[in-house]
Amino acid sequence: REAKKAGGGCYRRYRAELDTHRTRFQMEREIKAALENRQFRLYYQPQFDLVQGRLAGMEALIRWPHERKGMIPPSEFIPVAEETGLIIPLGEWIFESVCRQISAWQARGVAAVPVAVNLSARQLFSRKRLLAQVRKQLADHAISASCLELEITETMLMANLAQALETFDRFRALGLSLAIDDFGTGYSSLSYLQRLPINKLKIDRSFVRGITVGSRDRAIIESLIHLSHNLGLQTVAEGVETREQADILRNLGCDKVQGYFFAPPLPPEEIERQFLVQKKSLFPPEGTDHPS
Ligand code: C2E
Ligand code: MG
Ligand code: MG
Ligand code: MG
Repeated sequence: REAKKAGGGCYRRYRAELDTHRTRFQMEREIKAALENRQFRLYYQPQFDLVQGRLAGMEALIRWPHERKGMIPPSEFIPVAEETGLIIPLGEWIFESVCRQISAWQARGVAAVPVAVNLSARQLFSRKRLLAQVRKQLADHAISASCLELEITETMLMANLAQALETFDRFRALGLSLAIDDFGTGYSSLSYLQRLPINKLKIDRSFVRGITVGSRDRAIIESLIHLSHNLGLQTVAEGVETREQADILRNLGCDKVQGYFFAPPLPPEEIERQFLVQKKSLFPPEGTDHPS
């Protein structure tokens, strides 16, 4: 009986794996089709300067409005795109779209803040192609490198440090700025921070979430802010959902903030309307905290 039980477990595990493979394979085909049919969209989330109270930048975040399944979150398809290599053409589409958008905003005289693009490790591995692509897009759309920022997560960075170092040097030479994303969730050896030609640390939202309840997260954030400032880097806090979090971050000297309290990721038309034309104020009226 025991053996049968174990066997049954094995079979179930096998089935589950098979199903996972099938869904992955199907997802791969759907990503390809969505790319060909231009179904992906880019949303933009504003970042604000806590000192001057102004719009300071935006992060481009991919969206996939699926005909049948609704909005598929990036956490579901980006990993598949990374595993299958589809992140290379997808990443190129992202760069192209961002550059086209920046150039359209500039032509209408509304945009003057840099846009951050998320990079995956796989893109760093094909460095030549990536660099050529970025150069081409900047030239084709006649925009300056200072309009673009690249984000890479701490985890991806540490897993590919040698490659990242070289690629980052090239990007800095081109004039792009660089940020480490989800900082505090990976395991960086802090000594590398001073060797990396980066401009910003983005403090992961898991620390921001607990900033008011436990004093630990607050202590960690405070140390991260000091660390970045001592290294000449800026800090951006991610996932700010309440006024209280924003106030604490400002008091701690955090440079920039991004989060639902200020604005969610929005389609470019909305960004233009609310933040580039109207220049909506930094702090929404009292009592409008985003429920977390
Ligand atoms: P990320 O780069 O750390 O992006 C921040 C994520 O936090 C976004 O999730 C954003 O919608 C979400 N967020 C912003 N403010 C708040 C807040 O106040 N509260 C909470 N709970 N969440 C907030 P999203 O768009 O689902 O993206 C998830 C991840 O997928 C990103 O994390 C990034 O790693 C990846 N990703 C998204 N777009 C791209 C892309 O164009 N290329 C690549 N390679 N990765 C992408
Ligand atoms: Mg990011
Ligand atoms: Mg992040
Ligand atoms: Mg993330």
